Amino acid sequence: MLKKAMDYKDTLNLPKTDFKMKASLPQKEPDTLRFWNESDIYSRIKSSRANKPKYVLHDGPPYANGHIHIGHALNKTLKDIVVKYKTMQGCYCEYVPGWDCHGLPVEHELFKKLNKKKTDIPQIEFRKKAYDYAMGFVDAQKQEFKRIGIFGEWENPYLTTDKTYEASIIRSFGRLVEKGYIYQGRKPVNWCYRCETALAEAEVEYDNYTSPSVYVKFKLNKGQLAGHLAGCGVKEDSYILIWTTTPWTLIANVAVAVHSEREYVVINTVDGNIILAHDLLDQVCEKTALKKGKIVLSLKGKALENLSYEHPFGLRQGKIVLADYVSMEEGTGCVHTAPGHGQDDHITGQIYGLETIMPVDERGLFTEQAGEFKGENVHKSNTAIIDKLRGLTLLLHSEPINHSYPHCWRCKNPIIFRATEQWFMSIDHDNLRKAILGKIKQVNWVPAQGQDRIMSMLDTRPDWCLSRQRYWGVPIPVFMCKSCKRWIADHKLIDHFASIVDEKGTDAWFELDAKALLPHDYKCACGASDFKKGEDIVDVWFESGVSHQGVLKQREGLSYPCDLYLEGSDQHRGWFQSSLITSMAIDNVSAFKSVLTHGFVVDGMGRKMSKSLGNVVSPQEIIKDYGADILRLWVAFSDYNDDIRISDQIIARLVEAYRKIRNTARFMLGNIYDFDLDRDRVKYDDMREIDKWAISRVHRLLRDIIGFYESFQFHKVYHSLYTFCIVDMSNFYMDIVKDILYTFKSTSLERRSCQSALYIILDIIAKVIAPVLVFTSEEIWQAMPKRKDMPESVHLSFFDKCESLKIDDALEERFARLKKVRDAVLKVLEAKRVSGIIGSSLEARVVLYAESDEEYSFLKENESGLAALFIVSQAGIERGVFPDEAVEDENVPSIRICAYKAIGEKCGRCWNFSDTTGKYKEYPGICKRCHNTLVSMKGDNF
Ligand SMILES: [Zn+2]
Ligand SMILES: [Zn+2]
Ligand SMILES: [Zn+2]
Repeated sequence: MLKKAMDYKDTLNLPKTDFKMKASLPQKEPDTLRFWNESDIYSRIKSSRANKPKYVLHDGPPYANGHIHIGHALNKTLKDIVVKYKTMQGCYCEYVPGWDCHGLPVEHELFKKLNKKKTDIPQIEFRKKAYDYAMGFVDAQKQEFKRIGIFGEWENPYLTTDKTYEASIIRSFGRLVEKGYIYQGRKPVNWCYRCETALAEAEVEYDNYTSPSVYVKFKLNKGQLAGHLAGCGVKEDSYILIWTTTPWTLIANVAVAVHSEREYVVINTVDGNIILAHDLLDQVCEKTALKKGKIVLSLKGKALENLSYEHPFGLRQGKIVLADYVSMEEGTGCVHTAPGHGQDDHITGQIYGLETIMPVDERGLFTEQAGEFKGENVHKSNTAIIDKLRGLTLLLHSEPINHSYPHCWRCKNPIIFRATEQWFMSIDHDNLRKAILGKIKQVNWVPAQGQDRIMSMLDTRPDWCLSRQRYWGVPIPVFMCKSCKRWIADHKLIDHFASIVDEKGTDAWFELDAKALLPHDYKCACGASDFKKGEDIVDVWFESGVSHQGVLKQREGLSYPCDLYLEGSDQHRGWFQSSLITSMAIDNVSAFKSVLTHGFVVDGMGRKMSKSLGNVVSPQEIIKDYGADILRLWVAFSDYNDDIRISDQIIARLVEAYRKIRNTARFMLGNIYDFDLDRDRVKYDDMREIDKWAISRVHRLLRDIIGFYESFQFHKVYHSLYTFCIVDMSNFYMDIVKDILYTFKSTSLERRSCQSALYIILDIIAKVIAPVLVFTSEEIWQAMPKRKDMPESVHLSFFDKCESLKIDDALEERFARLKKVRDAVLKVLEAKRVSGIIGSSLEARVVLYAESDEEYSFLKENESGLAALFIVSQAGIERGVFPDEAVEDENVPSIRICAYKAIGEKCGRCWNFSDTTGKYKEYPGICKRCHNTLVSMKGDNF
């Protein structure tokens, strides 16, 4: 029977697969989620690793106060990549997601939504609403995180509002009380008068702010400088010159600090003598109306100690004190001191026994103590205060300055320092600070700069102000004896309350009276038994900070200390510190062995995302338009050490990269449709060289990628995988082996060898991308021909062990050399194509001229494979004189290349040119190789 050329198509093994070129991730991913859910994959992952070593990544809880944004998606995806990788390396990884449900972030959003203030609604009523509000967002975020393909204990997360968790917060506070870390003190703290609460260090942001900078002179009392000025020939009328950018704090001034060892001068002017630091004299003269008058006296700061002056508004007597922190950088070297309004001032106040004047209430308004300024907002009062100073001729100069100033993280308004009665945790009690600094060095910080960052923060941080004057949180469980007015913080009472919380939650504190919260018959040391409850709640950072007590210590599947904390780099100031301080104080351990930090998401131009700039990218949009795998690919692709950019262009580029990776997998799936690994696998030793080379390459890739995952360099995972797919596979291997896959007999050793390699490569690709492309890897896995003991999901599978990898350096080196030759040949062929001499490369015949014996024998050894390597019909090697048209290539200097039209006719089946084409009656128009194939296929499938 005669066959037309067209019909040979049926004799080829053309690719077949249901794995689509078009990903359609937004439509397909939900099906995969359903499959995982119905097959209970997460539980099965856990049970399959039940007795394996644990790897515990402890989740830093996001606030339950809104939908997830791109920063959450980044953070949770990074965590999921780590967890899935460790799982595939055989570890037992229970990931317990958490939510921070209490605190100002929730309270602030809810008050905004209710359009109410703290005073408008009773606390217990507000707390019920806040609970519902937080739970609503816990549910919403849970669904959003699950949609990204994140595995974890979604049905059993940790919430800071759980009764057991609340009880563990109370108990942790009790342990700190028991160990002597907790004290009550009147101290200046960061205070937001909009939010009416104290703020922790982590809750303060620095931003530019314009303040009035003023130079003010304070009149010394009579006789103070008399001894020094005797014989100087000037009147005794003297003033000390101060400088401040917070004129409103002058109301509370009680002292002026000078540096004991620095030189101070007394300048004689028409308006009396002025005292200031010598180092700052030029600067002050330049800025102010102070003319460089005659220096009548020069003396060390310590000579000024204890001189007294009158408060500019006559409110009290002040005195000159000494302090080390007085700087000669700016100002006058004479520092206005108000212990109620500054940390340094407070310390100096304690040394000198100065009074802490606090004329400002919680709303930032002056009280009775401020006299005529009563009822005015502190910041707004600046103008009036400056006017008054001017009227008293005590103002030397005033000008606005723009400087970095603390602001509230929630309401973004400038904050103040305000002394109040607060509960503190001492950082120096029992040498805690020293112990923490020592422990920090034992933690693995990724990137390494994190260590210095947190070290310097801890080195200088003040005691931790734990109390907040807010509604929504865990109460500070202290009582005041109504009779002796003493505050009682007693760990036995606290533990007693914790057992009430176990059952009833912390609402009990606000619902029950003090008697019901105290042990039966409890009496104060003074004998009285009538108590008042404390009204403060605990800093929300304390709540999440003790999650090691409430979660890591409690759950069987976890460990304490755990392996990894992974959060944004701002948590050096926040959660890493609050966790470390408490775990060290309570248990003398660091809660974590390693800490990984990442940067923040910015737009394509590196700008912070904001509604007003209109550059906010939401994870929900990316998922809807492209799929969660694209979002995850962006996470892996980005180098998280810096700020991480996102834009439409970046996403478009990643979509393109994704398509290439996907098409590589599709080619492989298409060519193993008839391959049964258990039945058809060719033993490694029997494989063809190029297939061995491909195995070597993919094993090297796997080894590299395991190293990158281990060191958390996910962007290198992405780049090495992408390069492998493009350079090694798509542009080389897949190109070359097409001929064998399509035209050789389906069961031939050559084709089976190649299919064995493809199966192994695809298996490895599916696994190495699984932590990142969670959906696509599963899709590939499901499309692969099944084999014995193949897990039902890629996420149940394990990475191959590094010991079993076949990496052949010599073979790769040889191929690298051949690849160079190939690249040079392809350039020559391209030139021929452009000039119209050939069409496809199969129309060409290549002749190489070797210039050295070594080169000649190398190519000669590989001669039989060269035509396939170049994808031409014929290729040969010559030694000796080369023709004029031979092309030189700088990358292969000892070779000359000639390309000609191929010899013979085009085979109608394999499209190779051969002088054997058309010699066979039974199968006209085909070459010898195809003829032999068809003869051998007779009786099989043809
Ligand atoms: Zn605020
Ligand atoms: Zn008492
Ligand atoms: Zn042929």
